[in-house]
Amino acid sequence: MSDNWIILVPRIADHLPETKNVQTATEILKQMLPEAEDIEAYESEHIQFYDCGANFGTVSCPQCQSVIELDWWSQTMAADFDEKAGFQLDEYKLPCCSSFSSLSALDYSFHQTFGRFALSAMNPNIGELCDEEIGKIEDALGCDVTVVYQHI
Ligand SMILES: [Zn+2]
Repeated sequence: MSDNWIILVPRIADHLPETKNVQTATEILKQMLPEAEDIEAYESEHIQFYDCGANFGTVSCPQCQSVIELDWWSQTMAADFDEKAGFQLDEYKLPCCSSFSSLSALDYSFHQTFGRFALSAMNPNIGELCDEEIGKIEDALGCDVTVVYQHI
């Protein structure tokens, strides 16, 4: 058996939506995804990584679109992560074209992101949310979000 999650995370990694906005957005997502087994909002003290699980394919440079070696990426992930303070999202010189980027600005296929807040739906039994649905959640939360499709 495998499980799928749809995870909505604010575009600004350290942003925490207000509690009443979270309650509204959670209710809207429940109505949008009636078959989901579980819908939950998470808040963490520090920035954490929201990965796409088995959907993980490649990491690419946002400047020159080169595929970045996973060795470099995992070493940089480890270097950027502080045991006490979570991810720092510092800028690093990329091995491809020497441009600078934070780990959150790299292009991931499937998409992955970093944040302190997430709204997630387990096994919603849909493909993807459409832009209009994402827009409704953004309005409720009061911030822009990116969507991670996690498969485990
Ligand atoms: Zn590059």
